[in-house]
Amino acid sequence: MSTPIRDRVDACPGALQTHAAADGGLARVRVPGGLLSADQLRVLATAARDLGDGALELTSRGSLQLRGLPVGAEVELGGRLAAAGLLPSATHERVRNVLASTLSGRTAGGVLDVTPWVAALDAGLCADPALADLPGRYLATLDDGRGDVAGLGGDVGLLALDGGTVALTLAGADSGLRAAPAGAVTLALAATRAFLAERTAQASSAWRLAELDDGPARVAARLTTTAPPAEALSPAGVPRARATPAGVVPQRDGRTALVAVVPLGRLTADQADLLADTATAGLQVTPGRAVAVPDLPYASAAAVLTAAGLVLDPDSPWLLVTACAGRPGCAKSLADVRADATRAVATGALPAGGARQHWAGCGRRCGRPRGEVVDVVATGAGYAIGTPAG
Ligand code: SF4
Repeated sequence: MSTPIRDRVDACPGALQTHAAADGGLARVRVPGGLLSADQLRVLATAARDLGDGALELTSRGSLQLRGLPVGAEVELGGRLAAAGLLPSATHERVRNVLASTLSGRTAGGVLDVTPWVAALDAGLCADPALADLPGRYLATLDDGRGDVAGLGGDVGLLALDGGTVALTLAGADSGLRAAPAGAVTLALAATRAFLAERTAQASSAWRLAELDDGPARVAARLTTTAPPAEALSPAGVPRARATPAGVVPQRDGRTALVAVVPLGRLTADQADLLADTATAGLQVTPGRAVAVPDLPYASAAAVLTAAGLVLDPDSPWLLVTACAGRPGCAKSLADVRADATRAVATGALPAGGARQHWAGCGRRCGRPRGEVVDVVATGAGYAIGTPAG
């Protein structure tokens, strides 16, 4: 693959390095694995109320964004996040991009529990000063075998094949390198360092491993493993599952998890507080712009969450629709796409019918989910439906 020339600096926003959007500062808070405590969610909700526009945005990488921040608010925000344990490293905050299987270890589908890997990988990333130089787009995926995050475009990924074997994926494809579960995070960290080393060797400004010349093969060649390499799975052999469905999800231990989809990924501070009050253990923000609440004795809270505007109906049209910020948050937008998408859902007039669809205010199509998605792009004279050139 040829290397694209990255002529823009890596300005991926963080909690401290905010982006100046049309509606004020935008801060992106990385939450590795989407895993956070109820208290941490309350801290974020309060910060959104006090400093931002009163809501949290869920991203396709399980991060949480605050919008509408006044100039300088990142100092106050950073202090609150650090006190809540949401900012363990000021130098590494933008590279803590880790996705993990939803409800791993609790529900059917996976072959082992990747939850402990999240903290271990995050600690390993933050402990290595050199890894602060990773691009802000770097992404690691930790898939327990169910296939819900292995196909989401991670630069480096771990994919459990069985209870004793983990595959290393590079740029979403199986490398053929294998590790035992106990050595899997070490291998992922080694691959992450190899990505940086190869980037330096190629004098590249690439943001993603796939953008390096022959990136996956050259990174793999830099690694040694104790487990013998295996024949790599074909692309079709790497499991790719849709996100955990919304609603009531039975756990293996007889308890219940609720998966509440957040329409257009905009979680109000009040909804966040309600989710925190519902939780008995932690919560998990998912790449599907949902929040999973595990370990509940009953499913009765589903009605309360639904009444608050969250979606627990697995057949809801809201599960089909995502949108970029649009107007007024983005100066490039040609429409208030969220208002238009909301109207289309409410009136049953989605332009792409029952297909997954991403509404965007311009051809950049920010936040577009991976996979088969119909683009609904504002043109200034209505919407173009299809896959316009971006
Ligand atoms: S897709 Fe266009 S309008 Fe939407 S957030 Fe991105 S740049 Fe702005």
